[in-house]
Amino acid sequence: MAKVLIIGAGGVSNVVVRKCAQHPEVFTQIALASRTKSKCDAIAEAVKKAYGVTVETDRVDADDVADTVRVIKKFAPDLVVNVALPYQDLTIMDACLEAHVNYLDTANYEPKDVAHFEYSWQWAYQEKFEKAGLMAVLGCGFDPGVTNLFCAYAQKHLFDTIRTVDILDCNAGSHGHAFATNFNPEINIREVTQVVRHWEDGQWVESPAILDDSSIHFDFDYPVVGRKDSYLLYHEEMESLVKHIRGLEKIRFWMTFSQNYINHLRVLQNVGMTRIDPVEFQGQKIVPIQFLKALLPDPGSLGHNYSGKTVIGCVFEGRKNGGEPFRKYIYNVCDHAECYKEVEAQAISYTTGVPAMVGAMMMLTGVWKGAGVFNVEQLDPDPFLEKLAASGLPWTVTDFEGYLPE
Ligand code: NDP
Repeated sequence: MAKVLIIGAGGVSNVVVRKCAQHPEVFTQIALASRTKSKCDAIAEAVKKAYGVTVETDRVDADDVADTVRVIKKFAPDLVVNVALPYQDLTIMDACLEAHVNYLDTANYEPKDVAHFEYSWQWAYQEKFEKAGLMAVLGCGFDPGVTNLFCAYAQKHLFDTIRTVDILDCNAGSHGHAFATNFNPEINIREVTQVVRHWEDGQWVESPAILDDSSIHFDFDYPVVGRKDSYLLYHEEMESLVKHIRGLEKIRFWMTFSQNYINHLRVLQNVGMTRIDPVEFQGQKIVPIQFLKALLPDPGSLGHNYSGKTVIGCVFEGRKNGGEPFRKYIYNVCDHAECYKEVEAQAISYTTGVPAMVGAMMMLTGVWKGAGVFNVEQLDPDPFLEKLAASGLPWTVTDFEGYLPE
């Protein structure tokens, strides 16, 4: 008997709720609350139709701790799954502490007024969760999330020491729109327009943002989908992996972008549409990136005609038993159209929502337990990865003989 409360009713939430409904043996009761109650009701209705499972719903302002405590107390869940926005992470964690309930999310906290991503704000809750005897699991989507667990698996089973990790995230899909983002546009654009960083020889090394003419990119030969231009990008999971992977000398994150995406984003940036500070418009203040979000397709609605696949994984170089260095690649391939058939979502929402459900399952069944704040690579990867494969995201381990820049 376990009850889960999911906060947020966007593209990722739709997948989490449906995947929880597929496992009534674990999720005996499901509640869903978000800023717009009608979106919760629409998901609940679809879930009732597809699985015959009832989802209770309510409205919540997760920026407000008291309102979040109210909704948590109303539903009395064993776990809160936060798939609202990164802006709400700290208020929801505060509410979980006050209402005494465990917590899981898929993206690290970022303040609304600065596009800055780091775990320090959430790691600062370590003592509070530990003292309360509660567990907070951070970053349990695909990346962060599954990529961290691929690293934990490599560390546990494949290598004694891992010298380098390259995380490679490819979306080789086509949604048919001139320009759209695959998850919340505001969060996505803030992420991809920042200065790039990777970690090497004990320090963070900066390089130009992806829109800069001198950005770093190369063609990586992905399994199934072939060669794609992949850009060096800063991504949050590197911060925790640097702490938790033994012997790590270098970690980089690469993401594919089409020239069309880059061109659109460059124009939007050049005309100021990606600004996150308020500007005066006809007597009122508007934040350009929020206005842009209102114009762009809702990522949750992209699934209908989406074709193609995502390929996300990690290449490792390391050693075992004092032998020569060798390389391994662990990855997942996910098909947009298959995801739509199963849960009416595209593969980015699917690859985020399924790991969130599996992480919730690990916590609610006591497979992952502990008091404090955890990044997922600190937890046992084996039961998680086994359930992940059984839940629609199979993964492959192979020798790697391809090219990566030095
Ligand atoms: P959406 O924008 O589609 O959904 C976000 C939801 O949160 C919306 O329903 C929104 O409400 C709700 N929300 C926003 N503010 C509040 C608030 N103050 N109180 C209550 N609810 C609120 O985003 P996605 O589903 O695409 O993404 C969800 C999360 O998943 C994000 O944090 C994103 O960063 C993360 N993510 C993680 C990935 C990973 O691999 N780790 C990959 C992709 C996404 P409303 O409907 O009213 O707008």
